Amino acid sequence: MIKSETIIDITNKRQIGRITGATPGPTLIFTAGIHGNEPSGVTALENVFNALKNYEGAIKGTVIGHKGNLRALNFNVRFIDEDLNRIWSKERLKQPFNPHSSEAREQVELWQEIQDILSDNNGPYYFFDLHTTSGQTIPFLTVNDSLLNRRFTKNYPLPIVLGIEEYLKGPILSYINELGYVAFGFEGGQHSDGSSIIRHEHFIYTTLGITGVLSPHAVQNHKNTLKELGKGRANYFEIFTYQHVPFSVDFEMKPSFKNFQKVKKGELLAILNGEKINSPTKAQIFMPLYQQQGDDGFFLVRPIPRFFLWLSKHIRKWYKLLTLLPGVHANSADSSEIIVNTHVARFFPKQIFHLFGYRARQLKGHQYIMQNRETASRTAAYYNEPWF
Ligand SMILES: [Zn+2]
Repeated sequence: MIKSETIIDITNKRQIGRITGATPGPTLIFTAGIHGNEPSGVTALENVFNALKNYEGAIKGTVIGHKGNLRALNFNVRFIDEDLNRIWSKERLKQPFNPHSSEAREQVELWQEIQDILSDNNGPYYFFDLHTTSGQTIPFLTVNDSLLNRRFTKNYPLPIVLGIEEYLKGPILSYINELGYVAFGFEGGQHSDGSSIIRHEHFIYTTLGITGVLSPHAVQNHKNTLKELGKGRANYFEIFTYQHVPFSVDFEMKPSFKNFQKVKKGELLAILNGEKINSPTKAQIFMPLYQQQGDDGFFLVRPIPRFFLWLSKHIRKWYKLLTLLPGVHANSADSSEIIVNTHVARFFPKQIFHLFGYRARQLKGHQYIMQNRETASRTAAYYNEPWF
């Protein structure tokens, strides 16, 4: 086990900035560079903390910024031994510390810092994870589908992609969202694009305005710029296809796709081990992989009809009714989960479960374990927040 003095020593380097205003208020925690080849968010946070340092009087609450993968940031690589944004789960955090993985060490330190923040402050807490992408993109949010997350993120004039938790195993913000806090990711632009830094700054200032840490009027210009950058695509999207790229497989994305670009049914998207992958339907391409490291080839997304958003908001409180369906039963080990027998329940499309707030967490044999985030949401902690 890593010694606590070591944790404290490195945690100090991990912190980018911390500022507490004159008036009590929420605690905002920004993480940047959890992927070490994405330093734009780190620079943006440094710039924002520099700009804010003489304005404690105007600030309500506490803002904290920290680096995610310190060692990978030093080498400008996504990760050293394993992806730090794919290893967050209760099971993993209970395991003994593995000294052979650089990211295991990063995880222990980061988790220690987050726990310290949660015990030293009053909340409500907000968590934001800053990223960039390998392909060109307008800025957007990736959000685990809880009503609390939806309610908060609808204040951003940007595309919002729901349900990534069903496809990615172990992102840090899925884990923190399961603890009930508002937590989601912001993707500012392409790794190599210099304007990604300023886009992160617009996001950070807009966030300070939405949460009331700064007056919304003071940061309105940042929100307006985000709106222009979002090109009017402020909409909810759902992921419905994911191309996994296992390690040691040849994968080549068709060049020059832009994020959210429309693709036709049958259009060539990528080559995997010499085999063509064509789009199964009309869709929009999402996060195409244009770098060596990483095993998420691409996703396909589509806008979610407003009616579904409205319906899911109103029927989620009835989620227990789903266990009346044949092939669906409650997981006695975890009240937020149901177990779905895919042989019996194969006639129910996944969207039914999504409507009630469930997302597939794991497939074991012919059984899906699906998890509902609504039971964990600490919604009451946000009742007095200005956006609620
Ligand atoms: Zn990233």
